[in-house]
Amino acid sequence: MAPVKPKKSLGQHFLTDKNIAAKIAGSLSGKGYDHLIEIGPGTGVLTEFLIGKEKNVTFIEIDSESAAYLRSRFPQVIDRIIEDDFLKYPLGKIHNEPVAIIGNFPYNISSQIFFKILENRHLVREVVCMLQREVAKRIASPPGTKTYGILSVLLQSYYEIEYLFSVGQQVFIPPPKVTSAVIRMRRRENFRLNCNEVLFFKVVKTAFNQRRKMLRNSLGSLLNSNEADNPMFSKRPEQLSVDDFIKLTVHIDSLSSSG
Ligand code: SAH
Repeated sequence: MAPVKPKKSLGQHFLTDKNIAAKIAGSLSGKGYDHLIEIGPGTGVLTEFLIGKEKNVTFIEIDSESAAYLRSRFPQVIDRIIEDDFLKYPLGKIHNEPVAIIGNFPYNISSQIFFKILENRHLVREVVCMLQREVAKRIASPPGTKTYGILSVLLQSYYEIEYLFSVGQQVFIPPPKVTSAVIRMRRRENFRLNCNEVLFFKVVKTAFNQRRKMLRNSLGSLLNSNEADNPMFSKRPEQLSVDDFIKLTVHIDSLSSSG
């Protein structure tokens, strides 16, 4: 029995296999950051393997029942357990230097977690996480595949993504309906793109919101009519690499500045 009653609304699926927990913790490179944040420690199966590390670790858990259990199980880090919503908590408040993030993510909000990581990419140097295998594959998808989408382009722009291993349903209480996977993301050395990055996010999102349309149609509102014949816009978003999206952004930016 789990010491905390799993709550579906919080995406709680507690990992029961310590070997897998150790393997996830062991997937951190340990390089380039001196602070670690665990998202959703739950009952602490992964936490146990993080506390021994020399890094400073902060734990953010939204569930008060889990947080109370963690405080009693790990009194030595009681002041590092933050009972709050990761999506709302300002990361800069924890540490203003490079951090790594680790967690067996609540699958129902994994995309929102990634958007928050992207917003904080100046701080987040590395991520090791477990999530639905389908989402892991999508994030790691190359251009030209059906699963390549907004998060693949945005995350791959700033991070090198490695698909590490799959995890079956039976090692969780309760078992999730889907297979899981663990990935590692390491921020690229040069993580500033050579373009207007606010516009870049907008172009990627706008193009994929109508992913079956040619860019000429999906990006219509960002273009001017002289661009109708430009062959660049006869493509669909999944055909564009990260570099293509950067070039496209530079081009669109030049249209707006030239009037
Ligand atoms: N790490 C644990 C639990 C994983 S389940 C294990 O591997 O067993 C996901 C955990 O994320 C749960 O503990 C859940 O309460 C927590 N959680 C869900 N939404 C959250 C949020 N917005 N912020 C922080 N933690 C959250």
